[in-house]
Amino acid sequence: MDELQHRGLIFGASITVTTQNIREVSSDAFLGKLSAKGCKAAIFVEYVPVTDDSMELAPGDEEREYLKDRIDCLRKEHTEMVYISFPGDEKDTGGCVAAGRGFFHINSHGGAEPCPFSPFSDINVRDTSLRETINSGLFRELRDGGYLLEDHIGGCTLYEKRNQVEKIIAEGKAQNNIR
Ligand code: SF4
Repeated sequence: MDELQHRGLIFGASITVTTQNIREVSSDAFLGKLSAKGCKAAIFVEYVPVTDDSMELAPGDEEREYLKDRIDCLRKEHTEMVYISFPGDEKDTGGCVAAGRGFFHINSHGGAEPCPFSPFSDINVRDTSLRETINSGLFRELRDGGYLLEDHIGGCTLYEKRNQVEKIIAEGKAQNNIR
């Protein structure tokens, strides 16, 4: 951050929020330190459990409400930075914004995934255009099949549906002979 600030570059910080660190990472003290380092955006990303053992770290309704209130307050009182809550801000957009509904993610091998938290892919941007990618079989099924709009517990809609996502890919591969 010192180097980025020294070079006059704009940067933000992605902050993983858990049930254990939520108060600290949304505190004036922590964010003030980031701001002093030249950070212009704080992107709060709710922890998404990758094993059943770590479910307790995923923010629930109480923590989400807390973070929302904190962010409302920060947006009014600390305008020196931009604050984004992910997926907390999804409430305002009516559900999960993965799979091209709002964005999609390209992994380091070129595989287009619904979201970094749903690391499944049936198409590679090395083989096709972004326009075709956003309409891949997997993305279309997730958008049109209503998978993104349902309520969910824990941090992530598609994590809860990971078995269904894998099934869509398996069926698509069988139909389209996608590698
Ligand atoms: S896949 Fe999960 S983390 Fe990604 S946008 Fe949807 S709900 Fe949020």
